[in-house]
Amino acid sequence: MSATDGATQNVIPGHLLKGQKALVTGANSGIGRATAIALGRAGADVVVNYVAGREDAEQVVEEITAHGVRAAAYEADVSDEDQVVAMMDRMVGEFGTIDILVANAGLQRDAPFTEMSVAQWQKVLDVNLTGQFLCAREATREFLRRGVVPEVSRAAGKIICMSSVHQVIPWAGHVNYASSKGGVQMMMQTLAQELAPQKIRVNAVAPGAIRTPINRDAWETPEAREDLLRLIPYGRIGDPEDIGYAVVGLASDLMDYVVGTTLYVDGGMTLFPGFATGG
Ligand code: NAD
Repeated sequence: MSATDGATQNVIPGHLLKGQKALVTGANSGIGRATAIALGRAGADVVVNYVAGREDAEQVVEEITAHGVRAAAYEADVSDEDQVVAMMDRMVGEFGTIDILVANAGLQRDAPFTEMSVAQWQKVLDVNLTGQFLCAREATREFLRRGVVPEVSRAAGKIICMSSVHQVIPWAGHVNYASSKGGVQMMMQTLAQELAPQKIRVNAVAPGAIRTPINRDAWETPEAREDLLRLIPYGRIGDPEDIGYAVVGLASDLMDYVVGTTLYVDGGMTLFPGFATGG
């Protein structure tokens, strides 16, 4: 059964995040797109960040507003400090504040280690790690300015870092990506420790294999799918909605006591499936 079927979608309570303002980076594709839509279904107003592909972003905005909430598409490169600052200023100006940041934007630039250029290394670190740092910093400044508004949420703000199972699973041929996600894990925990006294909850979601454009090679052909499924005890490749629902849960007050945790959403990929029969 796919997570995208109607039965699953209808379980999101439309009032769970009512009145909250969410920013999702890289929200015109894949996981970010599904997350932005899930947040809208849960009653949040949503800023859909994109760096390229305005039409896709506008389409996501349309899907969100169909649920009776506000949404807007903002262009910004998350690795550029001035653009992130301007995006947050615009959001506070137009939406009043920010309650939920989903630092999702990310990319891969794969190469065997000895062939990896500094440009490939740097680009991935700039977007996947520095991008999350910049967005988290700007969101936190606004959370601290505003403080807790009890009618809206028990927390002053929620940050959800999009990590990966590769924050703990080494990944040959992807040293830049795995290093960036390892960095995200420690950044998330450090921010969670530093900001919890101010009632800011910082957590991460670590997806396993989710069917999106970033990893098309891994699921496009039957052979690739078969290889991939060997790594997933639960026996299916994830859908972007699987991650969107996890983010909605983590962002909501139902999980108000969850601080500094990584929620693995991976069908059991981090359970060392190779040891199910061996070892
Ligand atoms: P995707 O390629 O569909 O989406 C990535 C998004 O990030 C795109 O919208 C892209 O335009 C955006 N982006 C890239 N650089 C940006 C920048 N400088 N500024 C703003 N936006 C930028 O891939 P996805 O699978 O949806 O990936 C989303 C996140 O999930 C990434 O952080 C990725 O590392 C993580 N992730 C994905 C998987 C998976 O299996 N798909 C697994 C683990 C983690």
